[in-house]
Amino acid sequence: MTTQHEEMPLDVLFVGGGPANLAGAIRLMQLVQEKNLEIEVGLIEKGDAIGAHCLSGAIVDPRALAELLPDYRQKGCPLEQERCTDQFRFLTVGGSFSMPYTPPYMHNAGCHVISLSRFCRWLAEIAEEMGVMIFPGFAGGEILYGEDGRTVTGVRTVDKGVDRNGEKKSNFEPGVDLTARVTIFGEGPKGSLLRELHRKLGLFSDNAPQTFETAVKEVIELPADSAFLASDTTVVHTLGYPLGLATKGGGFLYRMQGNRIACGLVVGLDYRDSMLEPYRAFLQYKHHPFIADMIQGGKVIQQGAKTLSSGGYLTMPRLAVDGALIVGDSASMLNPQRLKGIHTAMKSGMLAAEATVSAIEKDDTSEKILAQYPASVSRSWIHAENYPARNFSQALSKPGLAKFIHIAAQHLTGGRGFKDPMPIEADWPTLKPMPADKRDAQAATPPGVDGTLYVDKLTGVYLSGTQHEEDQPCHLAIGDLRICEEKCYEKYGNPCTRFCPGSVYEIIDDPPGNRQLKLNPSNCLHCKTCEIKDPYQNIIWNCPEGGGPNYTVG
Ligand code: SF4
Repeated sequence: MTTQHEEMPLDVLFVGGGPANLAGAIRLMQLVQEKNLEIEVGLIEKGDAIGAHCLSGAIVDPRALAELLPDYRQKGCPLEQERCTDQFRFLTVGGSFSMPYTPPYMHNAGCHVISLSRFCRWLAEIAEEMGVMIFPGFAGGEILYGEDGRTVTGVRTVDKGVDRNGEKKSNFEPGVDLTARVTIFGEGPKGSLLRELHRKLGLFSDNAPQTFETAVKEVIELPADSAFLASDTTVVHTLGYPLGLATKGGGFLYRMQGNRIACGLVVGLDYRDSMLEPYRAFLQYKHHPFIADMIQGGKVIQQGAKTLSSGGYLTMPRLAVDGALIVGDSASMLNPQRLKGIHTAMKSGMLAAEATVSAIEKDDTSEKILAQYPASVSRSWIHAENYPARNFSQALSKPGLAKFIHIAAQHLTGGRGFKDPMPIEADWPTLKPMPADKRDAQAATPPGVDGTLYVDKLTGVYLSGTQHEEDQPCHLAIGDLRICEEKCYEKYGNPCTRFCPGSVYEIIDDPPGNRQLKLNPSNCLHCKTCEIKDPYQNIIWNCPEGGGPNYTVG
């Protein structure tokens, strides 16, 4: 299929409409106005609207926001809760207790609760008013390079209107070549374009691979007379049940506006138990008496899933290459100690914008000049905050009480601990083979679902607003089906059928005696857990032509 692609020349292209790139776009336009420059700036976002792929209530440290827009309250920043009043609990199988000590970095004083999707839409309105051209519903399909084959010169968006066999349909629209002097990648965790850039230029270190956690989250509407709504607490964090101490992760409840709360469970993807199912664990979490009491009488109004790049400072990739910069979760900016990354993502976008303007003014967008960006990250409060947390994620991955001993040692030594740097292992090789007697357990009944407060996976997909054009090439590329249907089935019992929160992967017997992997790509929540956790690295997640979840309230 030979296709002509229209070219749209820009000076700067932001790929991804999350907080890092939106803050970067605003900072860039502030500099353009201050310096009276003429710079064409565009931003593409794969979701059908800005914020559509930004999930759930979140806690934001307003440090970067206040630097970017000191009058953010007057500008109508949509805050769900101005103040965070924390509670930290450890959940046992049937009970709970207040954690006797919580380090200062875990407290949220001075932070706000936000709805990330509403927050991003608000940032996008400001960026647009300042002159940024925003194109929602356009996914980056491939990176464009200059004649040297190394310098990034932009992105070609995904063709629209191609059928499942790769043939053009009557509504075919070829992807557009958005060319730019600087392209800023803020694709979120496990970006598909960054994967290609890494293959070409080597961005990530084999010794310190990026590591991830998957969050299953909901927005729940509580009855007006809910005891939790009447309490002073706006933020609850929990450790323990149902993950125990063998698996990294924990749960949360945040009060939002009106009667709404965000509730979620975060699961570290370096888990070892091949039978673990994050979605099932989330249901168990909600059924725990401490949580069930708080959410009693509620109704789930939105659900979704998302991964976080939680490996921290040591897993940051190369941040600048010829013609391009990498920001936000794509660049491991999240602080794993605080499990907060919106403020660091925004700051990274702002620093990238400053380096970009400076490079354009010098008329030199080579890596050498764009290296101002990683240098300024190293001098910024991102470094001051994340460097002492450099070994935290590794400590948290230790099984049992060992994690607390490592964390205490790091706390006393400014992050050094017993070993510095602590080794980092990728998430995909950690699974242990499934014990032979566990295969039947796959059919075990999920913890109670009632269709209202406790919903099954498919209802969750419905509540995420996920939609895809059915007749398009499958965006999940399986390298070798025999690995799934034979090797992985025998050794791990196809963990994709459990770790995928969208029920995209099924093993069916069709015809009887003929085991097959069946994909339901229309259910995909774009969380990327499958590409990260597949033990054979046999799954590649590519951007579909549009669609995906449609997060609105959360
Ligand atoms: Fe997430 Fe992959 Fe399932 Fe899509 S197919 S919902 S990216 S695990």
